[in-house]
Amino acid sequence: MEQIRVEKTASRGIAVAPVYMYLEPDLTPAPGNIGEDAIDTEIAKFVAARDAVIDELTVLSEKNEIFAAHLEIAGDFMLQDGIESKIRNDKENVERAICDTIDEIAMIFASMDDEYMKERAADVRDIGKRILAKAKGVKLPDLGGITEPVVVMARDMYPSDTVSINPELVKGIITEEGGVTSHVSIIAKSLGIPTLVGVKGILARVSDGEMICLDAGEGVIIVKPDEAAEAEYIAKKEAYEAERARLEKLRTTPAVTKDGKRIQLCANVGNVQDIRNALPMNIDGVGLFRSEFLYMQNTHFPTEEEQFVVYKEAAELASEELTIRTLDIGGDKELSYYQFDKEENPFLGWRAIRISLDMKGMFKEQLRAILRASAFGHVRIMFPMIISMEELLEAKAVVKECMAELDAEGKKYDKDIEIGMMIETPASVILADEFAKEADFFSIGTNDLTQYILVVDRGNKKIAKKYNYFSPAVLKSIGRVIEAGHKEGIKVGMCGEMAGDPKAVPILLDLGLDEFSMSAGSIDYVREQILTRE
Ligand code: PEP
Ligand code: MG
Repeated sequence: MEQIRVEKTASRGIAVAPVYMYLEPDLTPAPGNIGEDAIDTEIAKFVAARDAVIDELTVLSEKNEIFAAHLEIAGDFMLQDGIESKIRNDKENVERAICDTIDEIAMIFASMDDEYMKERAADVRDIGKRILAKAKGVKLPDLGGITEPVVVMARDMYPSDTVSINPELVKGIITEEGGVTSHVSIIAKSLGIPTLVGVKGILARVSDGEMICLDAGEGVIIVKPDEAAEAEYIAKKEAYEAERARLEKLRTTPAVTKDGKRIQLCANVGNVQDIRNALPMNIDGVGLFRSEFLYMQNTHFPTEEEQFVVYKEAAELASEELTIRTLDIGGDKELSYYQFDKEENPFLGWRAIRISLDMKGMFKEQLRAILRASAFGHVRIMFPMIISMEELLEAKAVVKECMAELDAEGKKYDKDIEIGMMIETPASVILADEFAKEADFFSIGTNDLTQYILVVDRGNKKIAKKYNYFSPAVLKSIGRVIEAGHKEGIKVGMCGEMAGDPKAVPILLDLGLDEFSMSAGSIDYVREQILTRE
């Protein structure tokens, strides 16, 4: 038994379960060529690997339509012919034949003019990886394939890795890299999964299948607990769950401060399911719909129609308020089907509104979908990463252009739709009084604002201690933005992680914040703070 103490929690909670190692194996193909006598065996190896992958994909495609295209490619004759010919004619071993054929096919797709076909290159590579892993006899990590309760352990996790997490089975997450405001932390919080990030060296201290106790609130990990420790943590887990039940009882009490101010308590979500998960917390709406997840979970830029279906459902569910943030990609958020140029400083690079304004056709598809959804609920549009009045005005002009098109087409939308902006850059703080005249609302994004004000990377564990939204520079910025917003009579909310930190509630109430938007898992704690504050 070994106890490890960890400094920062990404998402509270207690878990007792075996470890599931989520690590990419080495998929380098075996060296060397084969002799004439090995041809049939190598081809048989490929066929067995391919068929096993098809079986897996058939199951996956029933749960997620993304895999339907994968399935088609895996069964394609081009793949089979290519690999068989490399084994038979070029005497390549099966692993090299798979790699080379996949490279060739992916290249053909990537060079096509049609955007949809171009995007299939990523699917081809994914299939190649799966078949190669089977041929090598190594297990690929797959969070969607988990069938028993586990604590997932990874070097790091990217937003796309989290797509297939089932919170019923993923009881905890521990990563070696990353900070508490990295996107994996945000997603874990929204799913209510106890999570610790930035736990250096943990992977070398545990093995796959080993029992582990995790108290993410206290920052404690027990590796290979003895019977007494396991029983202790099971009891703690039960106590924690009882506390949760007490907090849940407060849900019907509206969030009114002692001096009578009604505070809006909203959820941050990445998809429609997140809204469903947050509704039991008695939310006043969605203060941040991170629309980029819709793009990240896709195999192509989602069309207007595809987005409309999602936003409409979201608007109907979060009928009091649905704040859709336009695409906030770049930084640490990538797309499998779009090659971003390598940048020295991605967080200072081509991201968020900068991309939308440069790719106007794509931006308009999103805005038209949001506008059309606004006929079905109280939808608000929010722009991320604004740094100048020109950007805000240009983005608003694109909305107006979309409105004119919809008018001409006779399509319905809310003509008074509120158009607001995130305050997450130093420039937007400095210009807040001017922005308040042009924006219908503000939402302070403390995750980015903290990193940009303090010049401290939000995901860098080494400097995590310096990443502090309680630092005077950040607090003064927040106060200034709220004041500027209120002077012009607009509402000021917050959708950065700070809004979900119970310790921040008294300060933010004093500063006059109107709306707190956070991961669903934090809402009960923040409500309690608002209700009990003297
Ligand atoms: C923020 O920066 O505070 C924010 C809410 O946006 P994201 O975390 O998605 O960058
Ligand atoms: Mg941000």
